[in-house]
Amino acid sequence: MAPCMWDDLVGQERATTHLRRAVEAGSVAHAYLFVGPTGAGKKSAARALACSLFCNDGACGSCRECTRVRNNAHPDLHIFNPEGVTYVVSQIRDIVRDVHLKPAEADRKIYIIESADRFNEASASAFLKTLEEPPSDVVMILLAREFDDVLPTIASRCQVVRFAPISAPVARGLVMERTGAGEDEARAALAAADGVIPRAIEFLRSPGRRNARQTILGILKRLPSMDGHDVLVAARELLGAVRAPVEEMKSAQTDEVEQVREFLSGGVLRGIETRHKRELTAREREGVTEIMSVTESWLRDCLVMARGAGELVENADAADATAEVARVLTTAAALRALDAVKRARQRMSYNVSPQLAVEAMLFDIQEVLRCPR
Ligand SMILES: [Zn+2]
Repeated sequence: MAPCMWDDLVGQERATTHLRRAVEAGSVAHAYLFVGPTGAGKKSAARALACSLFCNDGACGSCRECTRVRNNAHPDLHIFNPEGVTYVVSQIRDIVRDVHLKPAEADRKIYIIESADRFNEASASAFLKTLEEPPSDVVMILLAREFDDVLPTIASRCQVVRFAPISAPVARGLVMERTGAGEDEARAALAAADGVIPRAIEFLRSPGRRNARQTILGILKRLPSMDGHDVLVAARELLGAVRAPVEEMKSAQTDEVEQVREFLSGGVLRGIETRHKRELTAREREGVTEIMSVTESWLRDCLVMARGAGELVENADAADATAEVARVLTTAAALRALDAVKRARQRMSYNVSPQLAVEAMLFDIQEVLRCPR
């Protein structure tokens, strides 16, 4: 049996107790702001809260409602990310229009608004009235890493729930328990997933994503001896490798549609197809982010090894390449390489093409590895 949705959360007793009590008392707020670092479980908590409101068995984790929430497939759960660098007015107007429609099946509608720190003044003001007084069957859950980065006009209209950072051993323990992975594997998966537990679990279950990680580590190892042409080819190879899991997802989606096609009306089917398209775009971006995350964690490994703290290494299976670089790497050089990854992440958030972002990152890191002082 699948575990209860609240069990996906570790180390957040304060936040989850508060939310579960509100559900029991029938006093769920109309708008929440969940604040906490990446990997703290804000989105899992938002899902668990959604299940508590949809499921007849206390977010059991295994009924039809819970399964659909877990797979982002519940028609009354809506998840949004900024379409641009920030939420734009037209996107917020679409959300507001949707909020005022009746639920499709359940007696409530739940909106998860990710990156609530990425509103500009205009999109925030288009949202304020709805946030303050949504229809009585709507619950809004906004997510943000830092309270101070959320516009006060938005934050002041929400009930704030704080999530503490999760310690690495606790996160690792949960990943190992859920997947049966060993400690080294769990550590590497969490590094690739930026510490986000559900993403690390998915990573371990996806052969395509595990292969992509091997491709990245192999390229980093060969990087110092590559010429310019090789680097361009490597960047293309990397993007090809992270596309494989997108294909995995695409074929799973086709199966899902084929199984239900004859039972569904055209409108519902179109809804599913739109959701699938969004999921593919998200998976593709996540794949590129994973290139950055694996690269970053490997560079951190080189740095900790250079400082003689090898027990902190996150990619134990790449230890030979790490040791070789660590012998000559200075702290200053390591920080320059880590900066290159940071720039690549920034470029991605500004919608630069993934190919260009990855190429630039590889060239910068190559320069550091060739002259590591
Ligand atoms: Zn359930």
